[in-house]
Amino acid sequence: MTLALAARPFSLEFITKKVYLIPAALLLFALAGAAPPHSCTGVILPPPKTSSPQRTCIGCRSCKPADELMRLAYDSEQAVRFDPRRELPGRGCHLCPDQRCLESALRSRAFARAYRRAVPVSALAGLKDEFAAARTAWIAAFRRGRRTALITERLESAFGEPVWQSGEDPLAALILTVLSQSTNDRNRDFAFQRLRTAFPDWESVSRAPSTAIAEAIRPAGLANQKSVRIRDILHWVKATYGGFDLSPLCGQDPREVSATFMQLKGIGIKTISVVLMVACGANVFPVDTHVHRICQRLGLVPQGLSAEKTHELMQPLVPPGKSYSLHMNFLRLGRTICQARKPRCAECPVALWCPSSSLFESE
Ligand code: SF4
Repeated sequence: MTLALAARPFSLEFITKKVYLIPAALLLFALAGAAPPHSCTGVILPPPKTSSPQRTCIGCRSCKPADELMRLAYDSEQAVRFDPRRELPGRGCHLCPDQRCLESALRSRAFARAYRRAVPVSALAGLKDEFAAARTAWIAAFRRGRRTALITERLESAFGEPVWQSGEDPLAALILTVLSQSTNDRNRDFAFQRLRTAFPDWESVSRAPSTAIAEAIRPAGLANQKSVRIRDILHWVKATYGGFDLSPLCGQDPREVSATFMQLKGIGIKTISVVLMVACGANVFPVDTHVHRICQRLGLVPQGLSAEKTHELMQPLVPPGKSYSLHMNFLRLGRTICQARKPRCAECPVALWCPSSSLFESE
């Protein structure tokens, strides 16, 4: 008996019940200059990048910022309800926006553990049927800027972070982008190569008849129209800048450069944004066909908007300094997974935050 009492202060059960030890431990961590262990796992995690507190998914048990998880409230009527806007009263628990986590939680005693009381089966009835609609409502309530930042991070983990490299001549980038309109990259590059082979420099392109330019760029399609535009652009560049060196543009305000170039026929916001991003590394986010489709499917912009309007709404959502990375990774996503006709949502790295994923999965 004496021995048992003497050993009691060292037993795990005794220690864990001594709540006063928690502030003491925090004080020790502070004195030692170390970060305290994370509350929901008991292990030291890297500091979260968001101010949202960490919570644990009751399905997969992973610990995440609360705003990345759906909340379910157990209300006074003893019903468990999805709480997409985090406003329902009652004790809450958290779940990844993933049907598999819900199913795993329903198979176990996860709800009872989370609410610290018995949860009748009737209280959980209907959660599976409501899941898709609740998830869509949760995504709609998720701040778009924060969701864009999460998507950017997730794509960088899945595909890597594309890093902008200097070296591209702005005028070459401009002509290449004009050639890319309504064609694919292979035809664009082939046409550009033929143009550079047929003419020794931009001066001779600008002096050439449009028929000769059209002949050179024929693989890019719309050769007659594009040849006139290219020649007109070169004339305007020479008259405005006194030559064919557009590198000073990189030191100017991208909005001013865009406004100036968009007065020219054949140059829209997408074309000049690509030039500024590729040749100057400017923090502009061009919206091409792939990017436009993905932004709409991800619900980052309302359905039915033009690419120009999408550009306007997306620019402030893109995390600072991430325009190039997000643009390039959206292109990769659009070419490999989120294709126009049949997106492969089951393989998509950002499916958790995409309101369209459940739509395509049910097709
Ligand atoms: S989940 Fe599907 S629709 Fe959404 S971005 Fe990914 S592939 Fe596209």
